[in-house]
Amino acid sequence: MDVLRRHDPVVAPLPLVLDSPHSGSDYPADFKHLPPREVVRQAEDSYVDELYAMAPEVGATLVEALFPRSYIDPNRNLADVDPALLAEAWPGPLMPSRKTELGIGLVWRLAQGGVPMYSRKLSVNEVQERIARYYEPYHAAVVEALDERHRQFGAVWHLNCHSMPAVGDVMSDDPGRERAQFVLGDRDGTTCEPELISFVASTLRTMGYTVAINDPYKGVELVRRHGRPAERRHSLQIEINRQLYLDEKTLAKHEGFARLHVNLRGMLDALGDYVRSRIG
Ligand SMILES: [Zn+2]
Repeated sequence: MDVLRRHDPVVAPLPLVLDSPHSGSDYPADFKHLPPREVVRQAEDSYVDELYAMAPEVGATLVEALFPRSYIDPNRNLADVDPALLAEAWPGPLMPSRKTELGIGLVWRLAQGGVPMYSRKLSVNEVQERIARYYEPYHAAVVEALDERHRQFGAVWHLNCHSMPAVGDVMSDDPGRERAQFVLGDRDGTTCEPELISFVASTLRTMGYTVAINDPYKGVELVRRHGRPAERRHSLQIEINRQLYLDEKTLAKHEGFARLHVNLRGMLDALGDYVRSRIG
């Protein structure tokens, strides 16, 4: 089973890399989750890979995960392991975060609605296999894409692409609250230059969208690892409200998908100009 797909620019490359860590829907045979598949699938950032599929046409590289984030989540720290999931003691460092408290750490303990993901405890070996076969190769692909462009241009801009439920659920820090149409996260100003987040926010607002900054999502492991503005490595997390493009119950795309796709193309075109102006 393939772990990821990388889409290279089809025009002159820009130092612009997108990654979609949560849109994968190839369920490994050994996942054996307890709730029905349609409940587990609510964790997916459905179609985010498709929404940004035109990235190579503007000179960007797109890396997408093909495995489901509920099996192993590339946007979590390797120490964010939930001991309650395991049949044995974890041999590595353990630093469960707020995400693990919510049941959605490196390996998710809960599925949508807070129901248990498994009817059994997982072995340490199983989790280590998931890290070695899925998590590490995904991170290696993102690093490779970023490093290539950074070597070439002396700087790189990274968009870490997600989608979010329209309203906070029991596994979030804002249950019951309606979210903005886009949420941008730079871990409180630490993972990219402030001009980047301002530029993306104003581009989206000009299109008529509501945009929140670091609320409720600040960005997690991917922007934390790759965003080092002092080295001219800029990482920004971008969350799209799923209501803009799908029916959250059935996961079917609705008529808003096409409009959103066009607007994201416009946003990437603008970002391309931004990047050119920073390296020019
Ligand atoms: Zn996501």
